[in-house]
Amino acid sequence: MLEKMEILHVEKVIEEFETMTKDTENVQRETLKKILEENGSAEYLQNLGLNGRTDPQSFKACVPVVTHQDLDPYIQRIVDGASSPILTGKPITTISLSSGTTQGRPKFVPFNDELMETTLQIFRTSYAFRNREFPVKNGKALQFIYSSKQSRTKGGLFAGTATTNVFRNSQFKKAMKAMQSQCCSPDEVIFGPDFRQSLYCHILCGLIFREEIQLVSSTFAHSIVHAFRTLEQVWEELCVDIREGILTSRITFPSVRSAMAKLLKPNPELADLIRRKISGLSNWYGLIPELFPNVKYIYGIMTGSMEHYLKKLRHYAGDVPLISADYGSSEGWIGANINPNVPTESTTYAVLPNIGYFEFIPLKENVEEQVHDRGDANILSMEPKPVSLTEVKIGEEYEVIVTSFAGLYRYRLGDVVKVMGFHNSTPELKFICRRNLMLTVNIDKNTEKDLQQAVEEAAKLIAEEKQEVIDFSSHVDMWTDPGHYVIFWEISGEVSDEVLKECCNCLDRSFVDAGYVSSRKVNAIGPLELRILRRGTFQKVLDHYLGLGAAVSQFKTPRCVGPTNYKVLQILCDNVVKAYFSTAF
Ligand code: AMP
Repeated sequence: MLEKMEILHVEKVIEEFETMTKDTENVQRETLKKILEENGSAEYLQNLGLNGRTDPQSFKACVPVVTHQDLDPYIQRIVDGASSPILTGKPITTISLSSGTTQGRPKFVPFNDELMETTLQIFRTSYAFRNREFPVKNGKALQFIYSSKQSRTKGGLFAGTATTNVFRNSQFKKAMKAMQSQCCSPDEVIFGPDFRQSLYCHILCGLIFREEIQLVSSTFAHSIVHAFRTLEQVWEELCVDIREGILTSRITFPSVRSAMAKLLKPNPELADLIRRKISGLSNWYGLIPELFPNVKYIYGIMTGSMEHYLKKLRHYAGDVPLISADYGSSEGWIGANINPNVPTESTTYAVLPNIGYFEFIPLKENVEEQVHDRGDANILSMEPKPVSLTEVKIGEEYEVIVTSFAGLYRYRLGDVVKVMGFHNSTPELKFICRRNLMLTVNIDKNTEKDLQQAVEEAAKLIAEEKQEVIDFSSHVDMWTDPGHYVIFWEISGEVSDEVLKECCNCLDRSFVDAGYVSSRKVNAIGPLELRILRRGTFQKVLDHYLGLGAAVSQFKTPRCVGPTNYKVLQILCDNVVKAYFSTAF
């Protein structure tokens, strides 16, 4: 009976979402009012002269659009333990560390109960829509989720990545249970101190519960691909563990070992079955359904910088559908994927109008001005006015500005989105790219998306040789005169010099931005350079971020490494095994 009551009432969730999105403008107005009322006593708002006004006009007139840099001194005081209300009415007790792949180091952002609740609301909403199309029954989820180290700040606040703060929250487990998506691994594995050991145990738990696994998921698709690449390497060791019922000695943490000991019993039949299944695969195609016969879908963020991993994920998934998870950030959530049926690359996110107050900087008019502006502050001075959630236009691109329940007011998220349509009166957004990730030497401008498309095009040439680009990044080398683009590739195996030279030319030709092409023709930008990295280089990059306190759950490979991201640049440059210069122009 109790079990029954805990199951999420999906039709009710959908109904609430429908009602709310039919009245987006009012809901936004009310949400802003609530945020400003709850936090009116905060020093930040007190100093802006709102004097108790909570309407959007006064808000926009009094409150400046800011970046993380602008709020950093306030956040730092909170981190250091200041007791007065600084950004929020109620004291902040937990800090999230953003993944920091863009800036090279994690940023601190406030986390509170309201943010937790909006996180769960997003999860529930997309689950409700997903469950209509792909119902999961009472079963388990193979979730590749990991915790970062949780520490205390100087001021005694808890600090961990946003995903860690969510996973540790008691509400998370309850919500997952209600969504019948409970992780098959014990907490000791999720919160284990070493992610490699946790990953091994996650896979092992998945295999032990293989019949019950209904879905395979992670926060970002990268972690799923990473997990199955690891399985390719360790499957024989896993089979030995299952056969003998004894965990490999390389799992060293006593808490993880004792939790796993409770699950692991000698099971030679299962070990033989897994061996047979894996031996029957051709190049690992369809690995996931072969190992987990009842899996309904694979779930995780698959858009933006995750698109690169889709090809590999499809290969492992065979005919199991891939569904992208929602759109949000450590700073707050934005939209839910309510159309799980559309092809992954076309996923849109419907904004939930009650989880924050949203504004959008139109990007159309000011594209030209952005060219030389790599700093946020410079871009801001030329920006057109932000528009509200219901004022955005289909087909246009915008930068997202968030006002949250966790002390961020008119905060530039730095993401570029495109409005693809409306669900009732709330927009459906397509994630385009990070705004400040831009390859530019002079008048050229190529975004993360342009880079991804160029890599995709060139990767086709090595696909003919049955090789793949495992991961990639880029850099603008201004030490040479003229400056030039450098693309870093880690590839799966040997490819001839001729093919790689052709890949390099293809990359150079694939940047079709007029500024780039014209500059290349007159050699105002030097030939593009393709640098091939040693196998395992991106693992070193990942390890570097983990060392800074990041969590694998939130990891995104930095697609463009700036000169200030010195350490990552050094890892990449130290691991170059071959380099090619383009002769395309
Ligand atoms: P983090 O800093 O780790 O909180 O990561 C947040 C960032 O991840 C966002 O600002 C986006 O750039 C990216 N992101 C989050 N959700 C999605 C999504 N659904 N599609 C593409 N990118 C996303």
